[in-house]
Amino acid sequence: MDLSKKSALVIGAGGLGGPALLTLAAGGVGRLVVIDDDVVETSNLNRQPLFGEADLGQPKAVLAAARLQQLFPAVQVTALNRRFDAGEAVELVSGADVLLDGSDNFPTKFLASDAALKAGKPLVHGGVLRTSLQILTVAPGFSGCVRCLFEAPPPAGQVPTCAEAGIVGALSGFAGGLMGAEALRLLAGERGSYAGRLFVFEARTGRGRLVLVRRRPGCPACAGTQPLEPSGPAGPVACATPAGAQP
Ligand SMILES: [Zn+2]
Repeated sequence: MDLSKKSALVIGAGGLGGPALLTLAAGGVGRLVVIDDDVVETSNLNRQPLFGEADLGQPKAVLAAARLQQLFPAVQVTALNRRFDAGEAVELVSGADVLLDGSDNFPTKFLASDAALKAGKPLVHGGVLRTSLQILTVAPGFSGCVRCLFEAPPPAGQVPTCAEAGIVGALSGFAGGLMGAEALRLLAGERGSYAGRLFVFEARTGRGRLVLVRRRPGCPACAGTQPLEPSGPAGPVACATPAGAQP
């Protein structure tokens, strides 16, 4: 299928966003927008394939866009070197056909879900922590959302940072690739493998499972009454869904 007229907005150019962006570009998506306010650090290099040692200290969004443009000249790539924030969230999401959330903190993950519902656009949500990954597609009007699943971001300090918890580098590549492939299915007009179904994969056992995510009665985001909240810098910086909130 020709996806050259389709577009995707990707939050985060790191361990999830990088592989997702590569998958989308290789799949022929015509326009990509990547938003990230971070710079490349040495600890990122085990799982962020768009960057190398020469890139340390430089902005991820700008580097990612340049690298993708070099690899896939036919794809139009826009870099936004800033945080995905409430002030422009709905406008940005509305301008794309699908949203992929590869961010590393919970306030942004909730904001991405809330903004996708308000814009009426599908969201592919992803997270990795230690040896497990989780992916959920939020299909507005059809499936439950991130707020249906977890209700609220965990309190600051309850969730370990990526540096504290550690991440299996290959696992984020797997997760990001799956997120990209899921987005390609959505852009091709399919419902998606993870719409309303949370995919959990545990690398230690090699086992995956799907958990149904229904719309939760009283979920303010699904009811359209949830105000958009700033995505940070307050709140925990984390790699994935909270350990205490496993479905
Ligand atoms: Zn909801």
